[in-house]
Amino acid sequence: MTLAVNRMREIERKIETGTRLDESDALFLFESPDLMRIGALADQANRRKNEDRIFYNINRHINPTNICALSCKFCAFSRKPGEEGAYAYEIDEMVEKARAAVTQGATELHMVGGLHPRWPFKRYVEMIATLHKEFPGVHLKAFTAVELDWMARKERRGLGEILQDLKNAGLGSLPGGGAEIFHPEIRDQICDTKVSAGQWIDTHRMAHKMGLRSNCTMLYGHIERYEHRVDHMRRLRELQDETGGFNVFIPLAFQPYQNDMGIGRYTFGFDDLKTIAVARLYLDNFANIKAYWVMMGQDIAQLGLNFGANDFDGTVTEEKISRMAGGRAGMVMSRSDLEHLILRAGRTPVERDTLYRPIDLAKSIARAAELRASAGDAPPETLPVGRGKNLSFAVGMTLNVDGLAALAEIREKTANAQGSTVEICVSNAESLEWAQLLDTCAEVSAAGCQTILSGLTAMAAVMTGASIPLSKGFEALAKSGVRRIVESQEDAGRARPEDLLAIHKAAHGADIPTTGRVTLRASTKAPHAGEAAASRVDWTDFNSQLRAVGEGLRPLGMTSIILGAGRGAVVTASEYLHALNRLKSSAGRMADVIAPVLTEVPTLAPVMGVGSDGSQHPAQKLVALLADFGADDLGVIDPALIKVTRLAEDVRSAGLSVEVKTPETVSWDDAALDLRHKPADRV
Ligand code: SF4
Repeated sequence: MTLAVNRMREIERKIETGTRLDESDALFLFESPDLMRIGALADQANRRKNEDRIFYNINRHINPTNICALSCKFCAFSRKPGEEGAYAYEIDEMVEKARAAVTQGATELHMVGGLHPRWPFKRYVEMIATLHKEFPGVHLKAFTAVELDWMARKERRGLGEILQDLKNAGLGSLPGGGAEIFHPEIRDQICDTKVSAGQWIDTHRMAHKMGLRSNCTMLYGHIERYEHRVDHMRRLRELQDETGGFNVFIPLAFQPYQNDMGIGRYTFGFDDLKTIAVARLYLDNFANIKAYWVMMGQDIAQLGLNFGANDFDGTVTEEKISRMAGGRAGMVMSRSDLEHLILRAGRTPVERDTLYRPIDLAKSIARAAELRASAGDAPPETLPVGRGKNLSFAVGMTLNVDGLAALAEIREKTANAQGSTVEICVSNAESLEWAQLLDTCAEVSAAGCQTILSGLTAMAAVMTGASIPLSKGFEALAKSGVRRIVESQEDAGRARPEDLLAIHKAAHGADIPTTGRVTLRASTKAPHAGEAAASRVDWTDFNSQLRAVGEGLRPLGMTSIILGAGRGAVVTASEYLHALNRLKSSAGRMADVIAPVLTEVPTLAPVMGVGSDGSQHPAQKLVALLADFGADDLGVIDPALIKVTRLAEDVRSAGLSVEVKTPETVSWDDAALDLRHKPADRV
């Protein structure tokens, strides 16, 4: 442990003094679990180079054909001639697609495709020449090193001549595809018929020397190991030292559909962010690192902007390659979508051209200021460090009570639920009777369940209705086995913070610990252009809730705090994680922070890595991120909805120990896993 701490300090010193990191440093960073520290270093390095500016561009992808002579194992895009789904655009079709894009302001056409066995070289030249003639102001970024090698071999001409002909026809620069992983141990397994690493590097060197700039990529998250990534980046850094011809480094997250590699999982958000951060720190001679939303998904890419990335890519419009491999981010984003995501990451969107020159820097900065002013809220700041050592959750069920009939149902449902946590949510006091509520709590507890009551205001109203002082009421609840009192989603709208605090304190007086709540609510201020009214978080309101929670912590009876999302608020992953981290910083060691994302904030689960099907996209992506940003607990998990063993494995594989809050007598089939149970009295 001390060795790792010293090594990290040594790397930090190198970064501070501008000393170049070597390959062993990069490998250490990849292997370190300290994502937040590495992310903070990468963010600082990025800001030193690019201030808070994030590039995007208005572009259009055109994939001329998916017919390909090769069969790379990871590729879901290619088809053989005549195979179902095979296509090849006529040049006229491409012109029409380009025209539509140019009408919408595109400054770049990005064109890569399969190696068509029957297309002669002159067709590629004609393609570029026609597009250049029709749209002389649009930058044509086309053909990977793999396609160029194919053209040269088919034509039996030198690569230099091929590049020169294309450049003369109007080619502006090269995209970065085809690099995959350079190391032969991996390259031979995933794309052994493609150009070698040496050929890829030579092609880009030649292009740079001819005055054509290029991009570079790395396909990660399949069978490669960290040392292969470092080897890959070393080769790119060396060529950049030699020519300075790369515009940007683009880490490409592996997409798991229809590949011949037997891999069915997406990359983890933890790994996506780490890869961006290490690239920023190791590739010190690159000005630009891209968070490619098409492959990572918009939300993880947005987070990447606080982990060293300064480029979000562009509008894209029609990207088929990752889409056919399972990419789920969609194929298009509008200018306002891009600006909106960048602004909500607390950064300034700047439109660029293909060569990473701002199109009109002053205009971009003014527009960002205007958008911020109309939004009114302070953008989230950089995210501080947060990860704890474990992540807990309670196995059980949440049951709503809005009348006596519901109490009867609760008794029925919990009669055989021995060992589970039962959260009884009191939402409506009007038709409830105090004695019935007490009896129900006593019955649920007697059935061996851990009884939690939520809904402070409704509970207090039931007591008042029965002329029971709060102190006496909570004493009675404690006697009936209630183990915790939880502030509900409705409470904040029903009472002032000081009144809620008085109810918390009354519960503490009866030795019942409580859980407070901070809710991300939608701003009521006017939205800025293109944004729905309910889609902005009210940070002023959030800050005042943090202050109120601080008051509740002082008596030390509020031992946990939930971070929820208010009904109607659309919260991005970046905003939720930012808020989580701020809440954890405020709560410190005084309280556990509960992130009930899987159950209470379901809209966030898909964007943070858990698909609605649950099975296809690993929850590890979610739990690792939640833990890194300060979550200690995931709330009450109902095993009828979420597989407990799977969740526990996800927590473990994120490098955390699991605490499942059930007593030893738990009888879920799912809990056959050897879990370390948290003693019931700490529920
Ligand atoms: S990755 Fe490119 S070269 Fe390989 S099969 Fe797919 S389209 Fe063809």
